[in-house]
Amino acid sequence: MITELSNGRMLDCVGDVPFENANIIVEGGIIKDIYTGTRQHKTDVMVVNCEGKTIMPGLIDAHSHYAVTTVDMGGVLTEFPFFTALKIKSQLEKIVDAGFTTIRDGGGGHWSHKEAVNSGLINGPRILVCGPLMSVTGGHGDFNVRGTMNYASKTPFINLMRLCDGEDDCRKAAREQFQMWCDHLKICITGGCASPNDEPWQVHLSETEIRIFCEEAAAHGKYVMAHSLNDEGNRLAAECGVRSIEHGSYLTEGTAQLMKNNGTRLVSTTAVVWWAEKYGKENGASEWFLRKLANPRCSPDGASIMEGSIRAAKLATDCGIPVGSGSDFFGVMCGGEAMNIKFLVDLVGLSPYQALKAATSVNAEILCLKDKTGSIETEKWADIIIVDGNPDEDINVITESAKIRMVMKDGKILKNTLS
Ligand SMILES: [Zn+2]
Repeated sequence: MITELSNGRMLDCVGDVPFENANIIVEGGIIKDIYTGTRQHKTDVMVVNCEGKTIMPGLIDAHSHYAVTTVDMGGVLTEFPFFTALKIKSQLEKIVDAGFTTIRDGGGGHWSHKEAVNSGLINGPRILVCGPLMSVTGGHGDFNVRGTMNYASKTPFINLMRLCDGEDDCRKAAREQFQMWCDHLKICITGGCASPNDEPWQVHLSETEIRIFCEEAAAHGKYVMAHSLNDEGNRLAAECGVRSIEHGSYLTEGTAQLMKNNGTRLVSTTAVVWWAEKYGKENGASEWFLRKLANPRCSPDGASIMEGSIRAAKLATDCGIPVGSGSDFFGVMCGGEAMNIKFLVDLVGLSPYQALKAATSVNAEILCLKDKTGSIETEKWADIIIVDGNPDEDINVITESAKIRMVMKDGKILKNTLS
């Protein structure tokens, strides 16, 4: 079956300007042809009239916790597993509804979720899974509050955390994930805010442990994404060969230069901070989570996580480091991922088209999918959305699910509210 997306305004998300009267031919899940102007339609073609709409690549979220179903992240570990599974299904559907065709798991995912989507059981985005957060005992991935909960014993059911201490254990933890067919590893180099026992200013993994994760990932043809808030963590990540630093909130100029030299990317994640500050309390976020966001004690000037994250994204952009977009969303936040794209405009100062590129072609490169998705070019996967209005002129268009009128992944239409 051939589909033609006809006569729309197109953002290919690699060039500088939109194309008017653009037509895209999709066949076998692939973009086969792109042309402007009119042509005689062949027979047996399904034509989608895109007049007055913008056609652009499906959005990518480079940092999703689609499999975490509670606002208190550790809460998922005591939730009844069947209930968690149903909530994950609903969260994935909302993410598609918002125009995302690919998401990268930042901790908590499982190959079975990916299988459920790939087999058509769930209407979800393409998922790249990392599995549990790799963390030291008491670190950012440890949700045992003061050692009393013994969540670790429940991890066979919920895939949120793998506590690893020491070089041999880190190597084993990495290999266990590749045994589970993970797409990448997620390690917690520094402390964080959403975890009960640690502080953002702390550095937890040693340089050798980080190198072991990167070495094992490389040996399997994969890579490491790393949670890091303070600059010592950022520096270690860039030095040891981490592919993308997540948050990177207290990035300094020296480390930014090191990232640039070593090809380390930054994934900017302001949306989750905004959500927690605005809605966290009423949704059950713990007192220590909100306290650490406001006062992480990571910089001499006392900058909050939000202030630090904005500065880091600006500095990285100024240095020419690729800056991707990651919502870091989970639970009830799912479906609102595009807020992070809006914040790249409103807070970091990118142009709307630059922000859209961050969430498409830049994110695709970070996810090692540059040749497959993230732009509208021939021979790429047909991951395409059709939206009302001009998101390259008004970024707010992208944050309203109702304005995302059609979502296509691999040439398959997952959402269509066009007449
Ligand atoms: Zn995260």
